[in-house]
Amino acid sequence: MNLTQSEECFQRAQLVSPGGVHSPVRAFKSVGGTPIFFKEALGARLVSVDGQEYIDFCQSFGPLMLGHRDPEVAAAVEKMIGKAWTFGACEPYSLALAEWIVENIAHVESLRFVSSGTEAVMSAVRLARGATGRNRIIKFEGCYHGHVDSLLVKAGSGLAGVASSDSAGVSQSVASETIVLPIGDEEALEKAFERYKNEIAAVIIEPLPANFGLLKQDNRYLKFLREITTREGALLIFDEVISGFRVALGGMAEISEVKPDLVTYGKVIGGGFPVGCYGGRKDLMEQVAPSGPVYQAGTLSGNPVGMVAGFATLQKIKRESIIERLRVRADSLVEVLESHIAHYELPLKIAQFGSLMWFHASDKKEPQNLSEISPSQADIFRSLFYKCLDQGIYLAPSGYEVSFLSWAHDEKLIIDCSLRFKKVFAAMKDDLSS
Ligand code: PMP
Repeated sequence: MNLTQSEECFQRAQLVSPGGVHSPVRAFKSVGGTPIFFKEALGARLVSVDGQEYIDFCQSFGPLMLGHRDPEVAAAVEKMIGKAWTFGACEPYSLALAEWIVENIAHVESLRFVSSGTEAVMSAVRLARGATGRNRIIKFEGCYHGHVDSLLVKAGSGLAGVASSDSAGVSQSVASETIVLPIGDEEALEKAFERYKNEIAAVIIEPLPANFGLLKQDNRYLKFLREITTREGALLIFDEVISGFRVALGGMAEISEVKPDLVTYGKVIGGGFPVGCYGGRKDLMEQVAPSGPVYQAGTLSGNPVGMVAGFATLQKIKRESIIERLRVRADSLVEVLESHIAHYELPLKIAQFGSLMWFHASDKKEPQNLSEISPSQADIFRSLFYKCLDQGIYLAPSGYEVSFLSWAHDEKLIIDCSLRFKKVFAAMKDDLSS
């Protein structure tokens, strides 16, 4: 594999940016080696600065439900750029997208656009605190909610679930207002609500946790979260930054029939441009400035280019029933891959939910929490990752990231991928037996 240009770029990048990257996972730390630098992309294909082509299963970590540079999205963006790209004033583009979402997503009665998933979560948490007059937030191990200070925490060893910071620069006083609990554990949640009676503002969860592998939860558990939060006067926040508009138009809330009080979106909602959003119950959203006392603002919020990209993306997804049709493609790919894996008797399995796939090494049940992830996950994934690169397949460079299928992975390409993966698995088998 020729990486000369990527290596040169990486050398230079390390001189001007920490670790040579602008987001940590891009640095290939968990797989080792030099990160590939890409110069262009179309559909499901990437082209590296070295001139190598790859089929892309990372898809920018999720925004590109339609693949790179979908023609409809491109046309909307080009048209918008010909008119304006930011006003810092009221405009009809965010209005069109907001109206469409409120019309199509039953639990979103009112919403506010921001510029990233992190910002959406940060704002939703502030709103939950402002609206309830309470300070503590419950989050779960195995869920990621962006780099919000109060959620960049891990379970502490002391008091029931009180967190310690998971990053330098997050003060212990901020961390201590977050309670981190094992996901799926109803009793732990009951105990936390007992111990911190009338102190918990919200429970936040990725209803389909997809940041530490794909840790599918039971609907029953999501229903339990709804019941206990309602009973205790706390809010339920669904972080659907990955799952929103991808697993169903209304995300996991629609699938589970559990109505959160607030929901956060990112990724697909901007069609590949920097857009985030939080929304939900109108009475809660009315607490946000300028209607209410919870302050939140943004120079580029509702950026028209992102708005038209998101609008074109969501309209196409709905009009062409892409979620359902993409699921069929994903099912067929997973079925073939599983048969290859079985043929080569590899210690590898695939967890799948619609267009999300996760290669995991757990030989028992499919992991539903961190403790069920196999200790050999990182090693097996490293082998998979590099064999994939050899076959021209680019996966997100960590065994804890999921793979994303896009609408640009058409039927022909799925067949091509099946053949490439077969070679990948054969090579992994050779490695394991040597
Ligand atoms: N929440 C979830 C569930 C996410 O997956 C992510 C990003 N992976 C975020 C929040 C943060 O979004 P962003 O990277 O756009 O800030």
